[in-house]
Amino acid sequence: MDHEKSVANRDVRVPTPSRRPVQAQGSRRRVSVMQTICGRAANLLFPPICALCAIPSEPDDGIVGINLCNRCICDLKGTGFPVCKKCARPLPKGIADDADDCPNCRGKRVRFDRTYAIGVYGGVLREAVLQMKQATGEPLTLAMGCLLGEHLSNKLAVAPTHVVAVPTHWTRRLKRDVNCAEILLEAVAAKIGVRGSGRLLRCRRNTSKQGTLLPHERRANVRGAYRVSTGYVISGAKVLVIDDVMTTGATANEIAKILRRAGAASVEVAVVARGIGFDS
Ligand SMILES: [Zn+2]
Ligand SMILES: [Zn+2]
Repeated sequence: MDHEKSVANRDVRVPTPSRRPVQAQGSRRRVSVMQTICGRAANLLFPPICALCAIPSEPDDGIVGINLCNRCICDLKGTGFPVCKKCARPLPKGIADDADDCPNCRGKRVRFDRTYAIGVYGGVLREAVLQMKQATGEPLTLAMGCLLGEHLSNKLAVAPTHVVAVPTHWTRRLKRDVNCAEILLEAVAAKIGVRGSGRLLRCRRNTSKQGTLLPHERRANVRGAYRVSTGYVISGAKVLVIDDVMTTGATANEIAKILRRAGAASVEVAVVARGIGFDS
């Protein structure tokens, strides 16, 4: 069966968050050994299921702590190619692999310093993003956040002091609209070892979904839509902004603008996928 097709419309296992009580050192070590033994036994009896293709994993399959099988991880990452450091678009031929920008962002007012993406929006990565947006997509979003965090841990140019998600308006949360960015934030922050600042940014008004708009409409749609929450001092902060997809970069640019106005020293952006359908 075609693996890309096999990832669609499968049930996924919902991971249960664990909370550890405070324990004495020796007791904690004994419990940890028992947990390891029990965990291995449980994996043999009930092998973990890949959050994307829903196929039970072999022992040692996938990356530790990421609920995805090796096959899906390879498909999601793709073959790899040089990308623009600033906007993460694949570099056209004739541009040096280590170029700091590209024809797409050169001469434009790009307010963020750098963009990281697992890959270009298409194929299995597109399928994963579409599944993440479903009501049942949270386990996959957490797994993709872990994969993004793993990707970042080798590549981050600046050690972030704050990790934030692109926020949605409270009316969307009330309607239980899925905000993948907030779920990704949890997983990325845990993976790179920085506490997430989930309340640092606020959405001031209910914007239209960017994916439904043309490029010039997207810029207008997000203009003035975000603010830094009252009480947060981010002077000199190095902020990493998390989102699911970057296409025109309008949302990231607007958020970088308000973060810089509030005193942020650097703003970098990390997304699961870089859409290249529109120019920024
Ligand atoms: Zn898989
Ligand atoms: Zn670029």
